[in-house]
Amino acid sequence: MKYPEIKNFVNGKFIPSKTNKFLDVLAPEDGSVLSKVPLSSNEDLNDAVIAAQKAFETWSKTPIKERVQIFYRYRTLLEKNMLELSKLIQEENGKTLGEARAEIEKSMELTEFACSLPQLIGGEVLEVSSGVECRTDNYPVGVVASIVPFNFPSMVPNWTIPNAIVLGNTMILKPSESVPLSAIKIAELLKEAGLPDGVLNIVNGDKEMVEAICDHPGIVAVSFVGSTKVAKIVYARASASLKRVLALGGAKNHLLVLPDAHPIMTATNVTASMSGCAGQRCMAASVMVAVGDVENIINQICVEAKKIIPGENLGAVISKAAQQRIENYITEAEKQGAKILVDGRNTIVKGKEGGFYVGATVIDFVTRDMSVAKEEIFGPVISIIRAKDVDEALAIENANPYGNAAAVFTQDGGMARYVINRASAGMIGVNIGVPVPREPFSFGGWNDSKFGVGDLTGKSSIGFWTKLKKTTTKWNAEAKTNWMS
Ligand code: NAD
Repeated sequence: MKYPEIKNFVNGKFIPSKTNKFLDVLAPEDGSVLSKVPLSSNEDLNDAVIAAQKAFETWSKTPIKERVQIFYRYRTLLEKNMLELSKLIQEENGKTLGEARAEIEKSMELTEFACSLPQLIGGEVLEVSSGVECRTDNYPVGVVASIVPFNFPSMVPNWTIPNAIVLGNTMILKPSESVPLSAIKIAELLKEAGLPDGVLNIVNGDKEMVEAICDHPGIVAVSFVGSTKVAKIVYARASASLKRVLALGGAKNHLLVLPDAHPIMTATNVTASMSGCAGQRCMAASVMVAVGDVENIINQICVEAKKIIPGENLGAVISKAAQQRIENYITEAEKQGAKILVDGRNTIVKGKEGGFYVGATVIDFVTRDMSVAKEEIFGPVISIIRAKDVDEALAIENANPYGNAAAVFTQDGGMARYVINRASAGMIGVNIGVPVPREPFSFGGWNDSKFGVGDLTGKSSIGFWTKLKKTTTKWNAEAKTNWMS
């Protein structure tokens, strides 16, 4: 075991969980055991909530301009520790070092945005009647929880930690049990940056810990990022215990490729979108809707897909189970009559024979009823569905229950606008395969890709992490009194 047993982080200290239940943390690149993660007890959660409640008393009253200073330092520390953090992400998640590095760069951008919150959060004041003033102020909501998935061990925690904490909340973070190591480093860096004890706490665990978080009366808001199945459970369960909830779910992103699309640019974009992070991105291309005759682009996608070498510019998938699930999808599509143009099954990387690899896969002649057309595969696989025109392509996109992202590849601005207006997704790309909005624009999908109001990042997150107080004031006793003063 390369790393010691994982500890929780409570009140500024790393402490062992009170549980005796643990799971192995495996390195997807070679299947070796990296560490053991505790399935923490309710008592562990309770200790963390008490610490967060205590810290909230002081932290919520600390002026935002002071709170934000810690995150300026944190951003610098992320940059300073970029290589160490990237290596840790690569080890526990299996993505390439370059992809891991990009995750830290994005974490820095998210922190930079949080550092701008003091400029954005200034309230409004208006004299609403003679001598009478109304003003608004955003108050933190209290102890909040952030439940995160395995696919971005640093970026997704940093979607929530900087914004929620700069806005005056204290937090319980529940990392994915598959990738608990990066969260430790994040906590260490925040401590080094000067974050007071108890403001951020980490409690490890799986399903049962998530349920305990949803039920805990001391937690007032829950953000969740993960699969749609679990997002629905968390949204319903945490709402039932009267918390505010924002739950981001899975995705099935459709890219519409029109005949006038730039062939090379489109092919490289589609291939990078479906295969980056081994297809384990909620923004990954999953279905390409080929509109009319785009044979040249499909041929070029195959050329590009063959340039992707597992273990070099393609990372591993998270587990043996994920590898098998992805391969099963490909095999099922083949049996149902789809054509496998590039086949990533049975991939073995020399020297890393125990690793969980699936090569980039291109499947053509997929029909709408096949499971590769309907379900989230979460692997480096693109399913091509043929459509006669853009309206048929949009009907295919609209019929899928998810709505995280969609993209259109065309040189025709009018056609792009037509698709933007009609695609049923929260994030749209035009000639961009992974249309992640950069800060200050917020991240969030539609339909079964998100449950709750508003978005989790960017300006939209202010509404989730704060509550608005409206104050009406009159100091001038001589002022005329009317119906509203
Ligand atoms: P997951 O839903 O299995 O797990 C997410 C979290 O929920 C983890 O912390 C896990 O411990 C917990 N969990 C798992 N099963 C649970 C259950 N039955 N009850 C309660 N809690 C449970 O997701 P994952 O496999 O870690 O991540 C991949 C998924 O996340 C994909 O579906 C992907 O699309 C999605 N995702 C979405 C976004 C987005 O922004 N919409 C971003 C990243 C990932």
